[in-house]
Amino acid sequence: MTSTNDIRRSFLDYFGGQGHQIVPSAPLVPHNDPTLMFVNAGMVPFKNVFTGLETRSYNRATSSQKCVRAGGKHNDLDNVGYTARHHTFFEMLGNFSFGDYFKEQAITHAWTLLTKEWGIPADRLTATVYHTDDEAFDLWKKIAGLPESRIIRIPTKDNFWAMGDNGPCGPCSEIFYDHGDHIWGGPPGSPEEDGDRFVEIWNLVFMQFEQQANEIVGELPKKSIDTGMGIERVAAVLQGVTDNYDTDTFKALIAASCALTRTDAEGDRRASHRVIADHLRSSCFLVADGVLPANEGRGYVLRRIMRRAMRHAHLLGAAEPLMHKLVPALVTEMGAAYPELARAQPLIEETLKLEETRFRQTLANGLRLLDEATAGMGEGDTLPGATAFKLYDTFGFPYDLTEDALRGQNMAVDRAGFDAAMAEQKAAARAAWKGSGETAAQEIWFDIAEELGGTEFTGYAATEGEGTVV
Ligand code: ATP
Ligand code: MG
Ligand code: MG
Ligand code: MG
Repeated sequence: MTSTNDIRRSFLDYFGGQGHQIVPSAPLVPHNDPTLMFVNAGMVPFKNVFTGLETRSYNRATSSQKCVRAGGKHNDLDNVGYTARHHTFFEMLGNFSFGDYFKEQAITHAWTLLTKEWGIPADRLTATVYHTDDEAFDLWKKIAGLPESRIIRIPTKDNFWAMGDNGPCGPCSEIFYDHGDHIWGGPPGSPEEDGDRFVEIWNLVFMQFEQQANEIVGELPKKSIDTGMGIERVAAVLQGVTDNYDTDTFKALIAASCALTRTDAEGDRRASHRVIADHLRSSCFLVADGVLPANEGRGYVLRRIMRRAMRHAHLLGAAEPLMHKLVPALVTEMGAAYPELARAQPLIEETLKLEETRFRQTLANGLRLLDEATAGMGEGDTLPGATAFKLYDTFGFPYDLTEDALRGQNMAVDRAGFDAAMAEQKAAARAAWKGSGETAAQEIWFDIAEELGGTEFTGYAATEGEGTVV
């Protein structure tokens, strides 16, 4: 079997052999973009190279980039445990051309690697193009020999990428793998495309135009290529499984959590083990890159991820903190490719243990409150926002943990009510400070806290840079 580690190596070797500089993954906390919470695509560390702000000694690069999509514009947190293809942490394999080769070579490389080097049967693959991109359509016919019925023109923004309102932009072409008709789902562009049958494995972005104030003003003088392929998705394909969570890395992590909790991963426990394995990876890699659980900012996103996994550990009947005991299994799987993981192992284990110990002190009481509150409720009902707020405020349940807890019973949470309760508490705190005769300094502190989103950090959704999709 081709291991995920082999696939990473083989991808980098292929592009290295084609004149690409092999660039190590950048840390998850972006150093060149304060509006972005976490690196969420392989191109992020190269943003300034694409815009011309920065030059490098090479004009072709390849990487396997650590990515987290758990907040902001790309938020896959709610998908984890429920789709076969989404993670909060994943690795994006990419090849990049900075004003060097363009569409024809990008498609040739992708096709050669997938079908010749890796031997994926051509008839399992479908490509999409932006609806007006005749050039890409014709290249797919010419290079891959794909029949027209398997080159799908997509008119939506899904197939048009832009770095923001200003800067490079252009059409994309996505490559989908068909796992077979025993899996539910339809081809891209169809109403059933969100099923797990046709899975997007690779996105090729053709940076072709220059945009100003959201309007295309001309062709780029130096056209560029940015591609991204989720390693976990292509590992599923190459390992002959239909689900990312059945690949080698995830099987090892899930086996470890099954062993430690003395449970299997059947029935309701399936999603729990998947959430634990996924969130373990994002938690460990974030801590290794210097993020610690906190009540705001990046640290709050991390805390939300950790606590959600910890609730699932509790659901599985874990009587004591579990997450830190899974770290060695992760280091075994990924420590060779990412030495920072092994270096930070003591800090990661300590951080997870402390967080889980703390959270477990209120978790059981919070879950009891939640059970009582939902006792009279049924499918399709909505939990009052005030209850969700109490769980947050008193028991340390991040909002989305409550949502996740109710999801299995098809119940929702009243988000507006939760936000209102939060706003009310903030106003009350502010009024109390006013009445206390404290100095203006506290006032300023409240202003800052509110600007930053206070303790409930919901991401940079409104301001996050657009240049975050590959
Ligand atoms: P999807 O439509 O499946 O959510 P996407 O179009 O959002 O994927 P891109 O932004 O194009 O994904 O990212 C490039 C590649 O990275 C995808 O083709 C996929 O292989 C991988 N990828 C994206 N999001 C995830 C995720 N949450 N977990 C695992 N792999 C991912
Ligand atoms: Mg997506
Ligand atoms: Mg997509
Ligand atoms: Mg895509």
